[in-house]
Amino acid sequence: MPELPEVEITRRNLERWALGRRVVEAQAEVCRLLEGCTAATFRKRLRGRALEDIERRGKYLLATFDGDVGLLCHLGMNGRWLRRHAGEHAPQHARAVLHLDDDQTLFYANARLLGRLATGPVDRLRASPGWSSLGVDPLRDRFTPSVLRSVLAGRRAPVKNVLMDQHRIAGLGNIQAAEALWLARIHPTTPADALDRREVERLHRGILRTLRDTIAESEGDEIEYVGEGGDAPNPFRVYQHEGEACSRCGDTVMRIRMAGRSTFFCPSCQPEA
Ligand SMILES: [Zn+2]
Repeated sequence: MPELPEVEITRRNLERWALGRRVVEAQAEVCRLLEGCTAATFRKRLRGRALEDIERRGKYLLATFDGDVGLLCHLGMNGRWLRRHAGEHAPQHARAVLHLDDDQTLFYANARLLGRLATGPVDRLRASPGWSSLGVDPLRDRFTPSVLRSVLAGRRAPVKNVLMDQHRIAGLGNIQAAEALWLARIHPTTPADALDRREVERLHRGILRTLRDTIAESEGDEIEYVGEGGDAPNPFRVYQHEGEACSRCGDTVMRIRMAGRSTFFCPSCQPEA
């Protein structure tokens, strides 16, 4: 499932493939991913436009084209942007297509139709709740231990749930939150405001490290999401390693349910507070 690292890799890919390129044709399937535009307005707004910038904030992407046209995109559970050269087959579940002026075609594929695609004036997209309500992005905003401390302050909820709240920290999901907590040796159910200064500093380092390591590990033209049934290698330290030996201490990694999601942790490295 895409979290900050996969979305950042997607941003870099789109930048590499399409920055400065013009869209010669644009199509979108009529589906629930489209927001604030129809298939016809999607085409009308993007056709003929050149990509000037592509930004990421949390798990959102915002592409800016000339003429103040924006494309806001969320990958949902398993969305992907894929590139195909002339003559190559379209990927499965393509919901939107951008044909570029260099004969490359970019496909937005999304099997489960969870996610978003919106077009419109850039400022209007920036003001939309999805983008404007996001919390601090650890890789693009000022993110220090004291910023993290203020994010956690006064929150009795389990620290893992607070880390996953996009309005507080943008980009961490179920995987990255579990990985950061393992790196920081903090039990996922610990109340967020119970962490002391040193634990917050460890967690801050853990968040940056897991995000950067995942980007380095997974970077490539076609991202595979772990647990999708394919044979994607698992680059994570505890996520989906239930029953296996912790790579740090050798104890057995455990799985518990928190807020309806599987949470993985090491009971020795991350003792309950
Ligand atoms: Zn351990």
